[in-house]
Amino acid sequence: MTSLAQRLARPEILALEPYQTAYDENDRAQAIKLDANENPYTPLLTDSLAASVNRYPEPQPDRLLARLASLYQVDKRNIIVGRGADEAIELLIRAFCRPSEDAVLVCPPTFSYYETVAQIQGARVLQTPLNNDFSIQKDEIIAAGVSEENLKLIFLCSPMNPTGNSIPPEDILDICSKLTDSLIVLDEAYIEFSEQDSLSSHLPQTDNLVILRTLSKAYGLAGARCGCALAHPDVIDVLRRIMPPYPLSSLTEEAVMQAISPFMMPLANERVREILAQRERLMTSLPLAEDICDVYPSDANAIFVRVTDSDSFQQKMDRAGIKVRRRENVFKGGFRITVGTPAENDTLLSVLGVFKSAEKSRAAEKIRKTKETQIACRIDLDESGRIEIETGIGFFDHMLEQVARHGGFSLSLVCKGDLEIDAHHTLEDCMLTFGECLKSALGDKRGIGRFGFLLPMDETEAQVSLDLGGRPYSVFTGAFSATHIGAYPTEMTAHLFRSFADSLGASVHVSVRGENDHHKTEACFKALGRALRMAVRREGSDIPSTKGVL
Ligand SMILES: *Cc1c(COP(=O)(O)O)cnc(C)c1O
Repeated sequence: MTSLAQRLARPEILALEPYQTAYDENDRAQAIKLDANENPYTPLLTDSLAASVNRYPEPQPDRLLARLASLYQVDKRNIIVGRGADEAIELLIRAFCRPSEDAVLVCPPTFSYYETVAQIQGARVLQTPLNNDFSIQKDEIIAAGVSEENLKLIFLCSPMNPTGNSIPPEDILDICSKLTDSLIVLDEAYIEFSEQDSLSSHLPQTDNLVILRTLSKAYGLAGARCGCALAHPDVIDVLRRIMPPYPLSSLTEEAVMQAISPFMMPLANERVREILAQRERLMTSLPLAEDICDVYPSDANAIFVRVTDSDSFQQKMDRAGIKVRRRENVFKGGFRITVGTPAENDTLLSVLGVFKSAEKSRAAEKIRKTKETQIACRIDLDESGRIEIETGIGFFDHMLEQVARHGGFSLSLVCKGDLEIDAHHTLEDCMLTFGECLKSALGDKRGIGRFGFLLPMDETEAQVSLDLGGRPYSVFTGAFSATHIGAYPTEMTAHLFRSFADSLGASVHVSVRGENDHHKTEACFKALGRALRMAVRREGSDIPSTKGVL
């Protein structure tokens, strides 16, 4: 019994002998590599990314497959990874469609590369256009699949490009169950921006479902070129037969491994959340613009609009140096606008005359890497409640959590430090990064003040006063009798407030007295949070200094 993939594949592809790379033939661990005509010297680049670029890369890097399998919740055998989802589209059409004989079906207006590749391959292209409300014509797609014997691939995109809407998952699964002699290629390039889950959990029981995923959109890796197809292992086997020998650059592999490492995920997820918040903001502001008559709801990182006058809108954007995508194949006046950074969206909304200055975002990120520590930090001063701290020092996590909780802002801070030596570098670098990140979130400090807080906690009393005036200074009065609280050395407390004051550019005065060292330390951090809460709060739009700058 042959599998669906084998029945659908071009016979000549099944017959061909796949190219064998030197990598496939030889295990490369610790070898003297004289088998691939490589240069034995590493290239003349300074970046550590380039360390092994003189060698041919692993065709399907095992560590990357393992990471993607965990990210996408599938088995490694369900993945083929290559130069973007684009390459997966190419491989699918080349492997399954015989020129002139076989057909693909697309639902325009949609991502145009499906049709481009089909034309290059000489495959026939059937079209089942979207309805006026951008929904798919499910019954027509099924009817086309039933009547067309050689319909090999049906491309569905959800959330869609360029329109941003989604296809109900039950419709996709219904098409899969009715057209069991075609592969249903579901392009999930934007799924990370959707409330809908990926349909990858259906792969085990749906052997004609192929899902495309990309690292270009949600993870900011468009320039690295990395994406994949998720499918039944037999489909993956067919695609691997026609892959180029070394489809992925080792630079890409390294960049992707870093950017989607579990360590970076809190920040990666925060960024997606920020884009979603900005999408919401654009959804409410764009309809107020005179140039725009319709704004369509979106589950992607772009918003589709209809403008009243295409040429004048285009000119307005051109003059402001803002690039948007004109998509009048959808309808007259159709434009696709990608969600940018808060500052970019500020500009867009200003140009359209609907910017409200109070909306200016105060979020910042800092990534800091030394031989001793690797830290990723994100702060959003205007949103509270999302706190994720992981430094490897439990008590310190608890302290930073107190600062954010009492400060009333969102803080994500993860650190991988040399704790095998001691806690010193981790503590100091975390506090430095926290201060730097806070400084950059505060921006020009418009509307903020200078404050202090007195905090009693049982027998303890801590007092923190704070001036964000830009001149670093730190005074700490207090003493501890225990050397450690958990893995946290109490002698570091004064030092940490100094690091924070230095990197934030603030005067920070702390004094604490009491009996219990745990209480005393905690009271200092809580009071810092409370003082920050008052200091970072926006009250009006003045810069709180007679000099006009801080
Ligand atoms: C951007 C995009 C792709 C291409 O992704 P890459 O991984 O960058 O090649 C595929 N499909 C859709 C719908 C897209 O919008």
